[in-house]
Amino acid sequence: MKTDLYKNYIKNANTHRMNNNVIIIGGGPSGLEASAQLHKMGYKVFLIEKDSQLGGHLAKWDRLFPDSIEAKSILENILENINGVKYFLNTEVESITLLDKEYNVILSNGTTIPATAILVACGFDLFPAEKKEEYGYGIYDHVITNADLENWFKTGLDDRIVKNPKRIGFVHCVGSRDEKAGNRYCSKVCCATAVKQACEVKEAFPDAEVFCFYMDLRMFGKGYEELYLKAQKDYGVRFIRGRVSEVAENIDKQLVIKAEDTLSGKPVKVTLDLLVLMAGMKNCVSSAKIANLFSLKTDEYGFFTGKDSIYKLQYSNKEGIFHAGACTGPKTLPESLHEARAAALAIDNYIKSLE
Ligand code: SF4
Repeated sequence: MKTDLYKNYIKNANTHRMNNNVIIIGGGPSGLEASAQLHKMGYKVFLIEKDSQLGGHLAKWDRLFPDSIEAKSILENILENINGVKYFLNTEVESITLLDKEYNVILSNGTTIPATAILVACGFDLFPAEKKEEYGYGIYDHVITNADLENWFKTGLDDRIVKNPKRIGFVHCVGSRDEKAGNRYCSKVCCATAVKQACEVKEAFPDAEVFCFYMDLRMFGKGYEELYLKAQKDYGVRFIRGRVSEVAENIDKQLVIKAEDTLSGKPVKVTLDLLVLMAGMKNCVSSAKIANLFSLKTDEYGFFTGKDSIYKLQYSNKEGIFHAGACTGPKTLPESLHEARAAALAIDNYIKSLE
């Protein structure tokens, strides 16, 4: 039985939470998770999402590496905890002013919200694959991206997927680790996504030969190496170390891929029925506008930078403004969720320190 003394103690400890608003920008997994945590603590949370639905890329994905958990079930778990969070869809921040340690934020729908702290969790966009013209996305019918394939797994709808493909290829590092594309960084998740998707297409088309063209395989997480071994042993996926230099289409609408096998030093030419481009992560389209409005620092690629890269990654250069998730750089989903919880705690500590 809780005593009155204990109840008063809890009430006082939580007063700072009940009296302060927190704004979260971005309704993807990290924004949702941070909203849920802050709401549970007792804060009034306002979530701003520029799209027409919550969930970000997770809402469009079918299954997740390394063990093929359904993306839908993870999103449902996260969404269960945001009951009570006020959210706005199709909405962006239009202006922000700081008045005596409180931000006044005006939204594109005309709403004004005062907030003691703001979390930027606007996530990432996929690299636009059509920018790598040599791979033929948007030019040839049977060149698709990792996101297109995931959508096909989820909905079964996409005329570009041929009925009984004999050969399917995956190209790693599309728009990542690529000086020409302007992105030297590794997108971190696309090797594991490619291996997962290679196994899944083999399940969908057991008679097809499946090839992965890679530079290095970055299978760094728990269960990832096992997934790679399974792809080779159980699914017969063939891994070819080398960058694809050219994709062309022959008279039968098949794709002719030229690459160099950098292990054997020999040129490789493969004819495929379907090519999947592993588009990497880039900064989200609204990050420049947010950086500008809030005077936030970004790196050369437009990702937000923390106060430091290890201990204070969640803290921006502006007092009371925090980051979480892939808006600071490529992240796995578990990393984004952990960061969201860390950011919620950092915001709680910050608001407590103002009392
Ligand atoms: S994770 Fe793999 S595919 Fe993605 S950028 Fe890094 S090396 Fe390339």
